[in-house]
Amino acid sequence: MYLNATDFVGRAAFDRTARMDGFVASTAFDRPTLVIDSDLVAENFRALRAGLGNAAIHYAVKANPAPQIVALLAGLGCRFDAASRAEIELCLAQGAAPAHVSFGNTIKRERDIAFAHEAGLTLFAADAEEELEKIARNAPGADIYLRLIVEPTGADWPLTRKFGCARDRALPLLRYAAELGLTPRGLSFHVGSQTREAAMWAPTLDQIAAVWHAARAEGIALDLLNIGGGFPAAYGGALAHPTSYAADVLSLVTERFGAVPHLMAEPGRAMVADAGQIAAEVLLVSRKSDDDLHRWVYLDIGRFSGLAETEGEMIRYQIATARDGEETGPCILAGPSCDSVDVLYERRPVALPLSLRAGDRVVIRDCGAYTSSYASVGFNGFPPLDVVVI
Ligand SMILES: *Cc1c(COP(=O)(O)O)cnc(C)c1O
Repeated sequence: MYLNATDFVGRAAFDRTARMDGFVASTAFDRPTLVIDSDLVAENFRALRAGLGNAAIHYAVKANPAPQIVALLAGLGCRFDAASRAEIELCLAQGAAPAHVSFGNTIKRERDIAFAHEAGLTLFAADAEEELEKIARNAPGADIYLRLIVEPTGADWPLTRKFGCARDRALPLLRYAAELGLTPRGLSFHVGSQTREAAMWAPTLDQIAAVWHAARAEGIALDLLNIGGGFPAAYGGALAHPTSYAADVLSLVTERFGAVPHLMAEPGRAMVADAGQIAAEVLLVSRKSDDDLHRWVYLDIGRFSGLAETEGEMIRYQIATARDGEETGPCILAGPSCDSVDVLYERRPVALPLSLRAGDRVVIRDCGAYTSSYASVGFNGFPPLDVVVI
């Protein structure tokens, strides 16, 4: 059975997602498929740019590396944050200028650094002596920004521990970069992905500003501040408009840093999340016992085939069915693979129509970010997500 856009209760036919709704409703997919509306990606880019003053926006490619998205953004003047040789090649092949692609991973393969330097990239992230030495050997003279660890902020998907150096390591590392013949340009951090409110950035910016001003006081001429990603997506809840969120972040930055000559931001999620929806299918509805309070609903997509961000139930996707509007009951939602961690939502069950049954289409909303890029190549024989860009 296929749905009409108007079958989705609570969504006007001409709202933002009408084009995707219509496409998904009128198309038969053989397997779970992510549909991306490229107009919405362009809209998100423009909305963030409108709030970020003259900051350079480097799209974090890992959020969704569909070549069509990269080409579209390159054409709009967006820049890119790449983490690997393959992401760099993707950006260059889709029209990005090498000078507009930063190599933002702090854990780079040495051969990839050499490749990036050959390809004309000039801006590299680092957070350790050995990484600086690798860059100095393979990209002599390169511009460096140092990634710093910040305290957790309460973001829904924190990114604080793995990357960055402690703030008291910053000045020695910046000096060491200069000794190695590199050009220490600035600092970077990531406030945590899905940071719901702009005000949550303030403590992080205070921590970075202290290092920034200390470095400048010591004569290290920093002129680049990379504020990373963290810009949120709505996932069905209420959220500030991206332009006003970005403008609020920018004013928090300006209060602490003044006018930074080179400001960079690396949004990923906020560029693509609400531009995508996944068409999936119910494989089984069952109860484990006669008095089970919850039904189990198994989908043909799970933790390993695109919905990795349901880990810890941290990202909560909205799910629509053709039966919305009918009576609902609580469900434990799970993926299809033979791995018991492939359960999407159990602690907080999902309300789904009681009439839901195998074969029904479900539409998972606002999942254009960190889905296709997180899908395994085919764990247990379940295919990775197909992606269609409209
Ligand atoms: C993943 C990542 C981003 C994007 O983060 P979002 O929260 O999706 O905006 C930006 N910068 C770096 C270095 C990243 O690793």
